[in-house]
This record gives sequence, structure tokens and C-alpha cells, in this order.
Amino acid sequence: PQGRIAFLGLGHMGGPMAANLVKAGKDVVGYDPVPAAADAARAHGVKVAESALDAAAGASVVLTMLQAGQQVLDLYRGTEDQRGLLEGAAPRTMFLDCSTINVNEAREAAAVVTEAGYRFIDAPVSGGVVGAEAATLTFMVGAEDADFAEVEPLLELMGKRVVHCGGHGSGQAAKVCNNMILGASMIAVCEAFVLGEKLGITHDVLFDVAAHASGQCWALTTNCPVPGPVPTSPANRNYEPGFTGALMAKDLHLALQAVESTGVAARVGPLAAKIYDEFVEHGGATRDFSGIITDIRYRSNP
Ligand code: NAD
Repeated sequence: PQGRIAFLGLGHMGGPMAANLVKAGKDVVGYDPVPAAADAARAHGVKVAESALDAAAGASVVLTMLQAGQQVLDLYRGTEDQRGLLEGAAPRTMFLDCSTINVNEAREAAAVVTEAGYRFIDAPVSGGVVGAEAATLTFMVGAEDADFAEVEPLLELMGKRVVHCGGHGSGQAAKVCNNMILGASMIAVCEAFVLGEKLGITHDVLFDVAAHASGQCWALTTNCPVPGPVPTSPANRNYEPGFTGALMAKDLHLALQAVESTGVAARVGPLAAKIYDEFVEHGGATRDFSGIITDIRYRSNP
């Protein structure tokens, strides 16, 4: 779409994503209630408005990069203290939500936006802050075909892979399924390394075997939870993130809600959510999620 982009939520992800749009020559007006976030974006050439409504005035795309679905719905519909963005938006405005939120909330947002006569797209990302800075994110997009065609070039300015997953909510659905695999597989890899330690095989041996056998997965070969085999993994820098335990727990709870609302007979995904909650309680919130191996090792050596 042509015209101004309102960018709401200039945090860890939104800040660098907005900066990449500016770098590509887009007219971006941002808003974030946290002054430090707004200042950092301003330093990267983002114009900063005094409110979400001011930022959205006259924009053809309203992009949100917030923490939770309720925040997105509140912005769209308005609250007691604040008028909603749907009131008085320009005709055909595209409401593009890149936050990671509950699938049902994304569908609700789609219903609210389309009933008001506007267009909605859910486009959550993977790739983390590093991907946001380098414009190498993957976007998982739920959108009608014509809207997808229109938004794809815009998303390509912030990412390297843009996947059309289906209609409204499908982007969130794909993200939640992927991250349920990730959470469960990281726990499995960590348990296997601790078991290997107990059985007397070295980390290098287990890595050498599993990385080239049927145990191969991203949690092992890219984000390896022990130092050594993959020098770039967070384990080599004392589990400095990377992808934090708090975000893993958040995404597993979104998976759990999706499992419950669909009635899928999943056991491992919900258990992974519980295990990551414990990791967060034990100080893992701000560490890389692969640091959960230290919990498992600790519980294995009473
Ligand atoms: P963050 O907390 O750093 O950023 C969110 C920002 O939104 C904050 O700065 C907050 O002040 C702002 N905000 C809150 N209410 C607002 C409002 N009404 N209007 C405008 N701004 C408002 O979070 P983040 O790490 O940037 O993550 C954003 C989203 O991306 C989350 O849904 C997260 O799950 C997802 N995500 C994060 C990562 C990651 O590695 N950080 C990776 C993939 C996906």
C-alpha cells in the first residue's frame, strides 16, 4: 500500500522494524507510551506522535507490534479513556497486526475490523530481535488473497520470508504450531544431553550422532543447549538470549489455549508450557530458553 504507515509499539521488535521501513523510504509515524522506546525510534528517523490516534490519523496502514491480544483489541475498539482507531480511520485502511496473540483474539480482531469496513491482516513473526534489526524476519500471514498480494512487498522490507498461511487468524495458527514444536523439542534435546551425561557419553559425541541422525532439529543444531558443538548458540555465552524463557512460556500458553479451544488430544505441548512456567519461576524469564537444561540437570542431581 502507498501512503503513511502508523507504527504502534516501538519496543524490542517494533523499534528496529519501524527503522527498517524508514530506511526503505517509507513515511512512518510511530507511537509508544514508553518514552525510551519512542526516543530510540526517533533516533532512527521515525516520526513520533503524541498518541496512537495521532499516529494513525490519515495512515493507510496501521501496524501494531504489541505484547498481547487484549492490547490490540483495546486499540481498535477503544476503551473508556480512549477513542478506538476504527472510529474515523481512512477508507480501506489496512490494520496489520504483527504481534504474537491468541488465534481466537486474532479472529475477533479480524471480525471487528472488517465489520467496521476496513481490512485486517495477522502477520506474526519469528526471528527475534536479531531478525528485526537485520530485516530477516519470517512473517506468517493470515489474510485474504488480494490483501496478501498488497502487503507482501511491505513485509519484505522487514523480513526475508513471507508465507501466506490462509485466511484471518492463520498466521497466528502457524506460529503457535511452530512454537509448540520448538518448546517441546528443546526440552527433549536438553533431557537427552543430561541423560547422555549420566550415561557417560560426551556432548560432542551425542551432538555428532544426533545432528546427523533422526534426532536432528533446530533446538539441537542451531540453538544447541550445551556449549561447544555450535559456537554461536546462547549456551556459549551463559544463556544470554536469544529467545527468552518468558517469551517461550508466553507462546506455549497461546498453544495451550489453542489446544484447549480445539480439543486436540495433545499431551506434550501442554506439559512443555508447565515446564517453561517453572523455568520462568526459577529465574529463566530473561535467559535464553535453552537454559532450561540447567533446571533439568539440577533436578537430576538431588
Ligand atoms: P516489547 O514489550 O519490547 O514491545 C511492545 C511495546 O508496545 C512496548 O514498548 C510498549 O510500551 C508498547 N505499547 C503498549 N501499549 C501500547 C499502545 N497502546 N500503543 C502503542 N504502543 C504500546 O515486546 P517485543 O519483544 O517487541 O514483542 C512484540 C511482539 O512480538 C510480542 O507479541 C512478542 O510475543 C512478539 N515476538 C517477539 C520476539 C522477540 O524475540 N522479542 C520474537 C518474535 C515475536
